[in-house]
Amino acid sequence: MRILAILAAVCAAAIHCSGCARSAPPAFDGASAFAFLKEQCDMGPRYPGSPGHAAIRRFLVEKLAAFGASVAQQPFEAVLSTGDTLRLVNIVGAYRPDARKRILLGAHYDTRPRADRDPDPANRARPIIGANDGGSGVAVLLELARLLAASKPSVGVDLVFFDGEDSGEEGKAMDYLLGSRRYAKSLGGSPPYAVIVIDMVGERDSRIPVEGFSAAASPALCARIYGIARTLRVPNLVQSRGSSIIDDHLPFIQAGIPAIDLIDFEYRYWHTLADTPDKCSSESLAAVGSVLVRYLWEER
Ligand SMILES: [Zn+2]
Repeated sequence: MRILAILAAVCAAAIHCSGCARSAPPAFDGASAFAFLKEQCDMGPRYPGSPGHAAIRRFLVEKLAAFGASVAQQPFEAVLSTGDTLRLVNIVGAYRPDARKRILLGAHYDTRPRADRDPDPANRARPIIGANDGGSGVAVLLELARLLAASKPSVGVDLVFFDGEDSGEEGKAMDYLLGSRRYAKSLGGSPPYAVIVIDMVGERDSRIPVEGFSAAASPALCARIYGIARTLRVPNLVQSRGSSIIDDHLPFIQAGIPAIDLIDFEYRYWHTLADTPDKCSSESLAAVGSVLVRYLWEER
């Protein structure tokens, strides 16, 4: 029995050592993520062409560089159905840039140029602050970048900040998802093996069911992420089917890449001037962030 016990200990050490290149999963800090959300809102509205848009582009590049990422920018122009041309930039922070096996975590950083769902018609031409719609996904990704500066999972991670998600007129689908469509098209022969988009994940007491397109196209990735939420007892990720939402995961699904969208679409302040930081919480950001940390550090 003694020998068996010693053998078991040696085996356990060997198994443990095979993962030596990978460090232990860090703790996601919801308060730190919430500070990133507020910093964005302090820049004002961040729609393409606005001063806030220029400010957040600089902010993202500076933060990602400070957090040790390999930073790349993908500038491009997009023509809307109105004939307007938008000058847009996707921003990427890569960790372990040489790793072949890569996970893409994405969020849009632009905010909507008009509050067309605001209850007051006088507000509907005004731009939103986008604390939840825009700010929350970026906040979670920046907190992940802060963690990745100190500790790496064994897979490569690309944090992708999409531009031009939210400038379209309702009903004109081709005017949305400009950054993610551009990025998916540029992937070429080395696509990520999984894509997780986060959007509107910051509302207090958030409730994130399994988004419809994600469930249909990427059931294994959905099962994995919601399984982790169950294991971690994160109640915000609800194990039921939600509605199907046009979002930045779709261009990747259309490219044949497993992709899902974590989104709480039941947000009463959506596309209104009231989408402000007081509607959001550090706990909701940490709920999604802790699931993503566990996922990244479990992959190999
Ligand atoms: Zn939106």
